[in-house]
Amino acid sequence: MKTVGVLALQGDVAEHLQQLQQRHFHAVAVKKPADLTALAALIIPGGESTAMSYLLQIGGLYEPIREFAHHHPVMGTCAGLIMCGARIEGGQHPVIPLGLIDIKVTRNGFGRQVDSFETTLFIAALGKSVPAVFIRAPFIESIGDHVTVLARYENRIVMAEQGNILVCSFHPELTDDTSVLEYFLNKI
Ligand code: GLN
Repeated sequence: MKTVGVLALQGDVAEHLQQLQQRHFHAVAVKKPADLTALAALIIPGGESTAMSYLLQIGGLYEPIREFAHHHPVMGTCAGLIMCGARIEGGQHPVIPLGLIDIKVTRNGFGRQVDSFETTLFIAALGKSVPAVFIRAPFIESIGDHVTVLARYENRIVMAEQGNILVCSFHPELTDDTSVLEYFLNKI
């Protein structure tokens, strides 16, 4: 059985762990560099990227995760997308991104908490529409040459991939649909 980690510093860790268990993966919470060693893949959850950035620094996790991402799949949802990005705009407090995927991100791009919403997105790579929950969500403002756009909402890029790295602005872990997760797990 493959083990998949969920970065467990802050955010909706439990929901990701639960979805992984539903798909019969061994799911573990990642809190320190040593937790990465047995993993086949890592998920960086939604939450608050300012807090996550701070806790990544405190925990000495920046370099270990960058190193891990050279050889393993990493998925970032919402704040996790922000963390995976290369350049970040917006938000009141600075965030140091991991720089795993060549995208420029606008934080809170769809507005504040009151502007959170749920919609349905058609994702051609999945061959279907999925429910998508946006909570103070970022969007991808621009992409590098090696990045593929997987979904847009109102003409904003909200899902993309580059090799092993998959990011989405919304929260697949907050719905019953596991197809985004399955798409990611196929990278293992
Ligand atoms: N707006 C948050 C941030 O900038 C992300 C929100 C989320 O993950 N739902 O980190």
